[in-house]
Amino acid sequence: THDVHIIGGGLAGSEAAWQLAQRGFRVRLSEMRGSGEMTDAHQTDGLAEMVCSNSFRSDDDERNAVGLLHHEMRRLDSIIMSAGETARVPAGTALAVDRDVFSAAVQRALEEHPNITVIRERIDTLPDSGLTIVATGPLTAATLAQNIGLATGQESLAFFDAIAPIVHRESIDMDICWFASRWDKPSAGSSSDEAGKDYINCPMDKDQYLAFHQGLMDGEKTTFKQWEENTPYFDGCMPIEVMASRGVDTLRYGPMKPVGLDNPRTGRWPYAVVQLRQDNKLGTLWNMVGFQTKLKHGAQVELFRTIPGLENAEFARLGGLHRNTFINSPMVLDRQLRLQNAPHIRFAGQITGCEGYVESAAIGLMTGMMVAAELGGTSWVSPPPTTAMGALLSHITGDAEAETYQPMNVNFGLFPPLHDVKKKQRKEAYTSRGKEEFGHWMAAVV
Ligand code: FAD
Repeated sequence: THDVHIIGGGLAGSEAAWQLAQRGFRVRLSEMRGSGEMTDAHQTDGLAEMVCSNSFRSDDDERNAVGLLHHEMRRLDSIIMSAGETARVPAGTALAVDRDVFSAAVQRALEEHPNITVIRERIDTLPDSGLTIVATGPLTAATLAQNIGLATGQESLAFFDAIAPIVHRESIDMDICWFASRWDKPSAGSSSDEAGKDYINCPMDKDQYLAFHQGLMDGEKTTFKQWEENTPYFDGCMPIEVMASRGVDTLRYGPMKPVGLDNPRTGRWPYAVVQLRQDNKLGTLWNMVGFQTKLKHGAQVELFRTIPGLENAEFARLGGLHRNTFINSPMVLDRQLRLQNAPHIRFAGQITGCEGYVESAAIGLMTGMMVAAELGGTSWVSPPPTTAMGALLSHITGDAEAETYQPMNVNFGLFPPLHDVKKKQRKEAYTSRGKEEFGHWMAAVV
């Protein structure tokens, strides 16, 4: 027997289980990986697996919103943050971790906890009764996703989220490409720091462009079987080949627009350009702007190496698409993340429309506390919106516009504004106000 059923042992479900168990409640944690099931992005059976980058982003709790979120979660005995500390690797002011050490630390803590039973099973329906937390993430298994769609009355839960390829800077031929932002004066071949320009530009003439366009049309694409037909693309995330299929010039008016980009070697705008934007602080990785794609990996390498300057490009990551399942939380959940028409069910993690490992875990943490309050017969009081947790929660549960709801990272734009503080001091002001009010909230509630 258990007090709470948590579905999904990712970042959010693991944190929620820990919070409940530490407060003395018995948790059944159902995770489908390990029962012969896998998602499109996970690689292991480990709980709290990080599917992509190994970073919890900035750990600076004096100037950064996600750093402030770290601070608040640590104060609430977060298992994700303490396992993150155990698994920490050097990354400047960011908190990056060894993902295997991290996942193993979370899994050990949960499996060894007397109040937690981890069961490797796939859940297909929303339970009719019993306190439940659904934390099945952006890649929620199809049948459960369909049933969540039915329960929330939403036609479509799934969206495609696309990523663009990333190229190693040293493999870009700067005798052909040049640094410049649109309408800047060009500076060929100089390093990005010296130039202070934001983009590397690869020029194409008309023949090259037409051949490239044809290559996009002909290249072999990945198919997404049952999801493909009814799944809309995020605005601004349309795959390049989908854009190309709308007309031969669509890309020249979109991501490959040459306007305002004088090629220093000809003094003229090229027929089309491919732009790359710096992707890491070191300046070693550059992201192909607007080039999210579902071309097969082999086809990407072949085609993108026809781009002038990228003949010898080495790719740190190729483009791809993944499903991102989330509900319209402002519309279907109440302020305590409960389904309005089935309040025994709460949602946590990325499926609520937050974005990111830390945000997902933070929502898991609060959901665990909410259920604990309900089980303990006390009333839940949200952290104030001046805190990172409170800001994120308010956004998800009502402050966001339901009509245009899109996944969101924590950021100071979600906090009540501090207009009277000078811009230079504003970040510090947000974090110091947040910490102070978080302290008051903890003293009153925790
Ligand atoms: P997850 O961590 O995915 O956990 C959900 C769990 O539920 C999984 O373990 C899954 O196996 C399980 N599950 C699903 N369906 C069922 C079912 N029916 N029954 C039982 N179990 C089920 N965020 C970042 O901060 N940085 C990144 O670099 C990043 N990259 C991403 C890349 C991809 C491809 C994706 C899809 C997401 C990425 N995210 C990233 C976003 C997000 O932060 C992570 O997906 C994060 O893991 C979300 O946490 P979660 O707990 O909500 O979901």
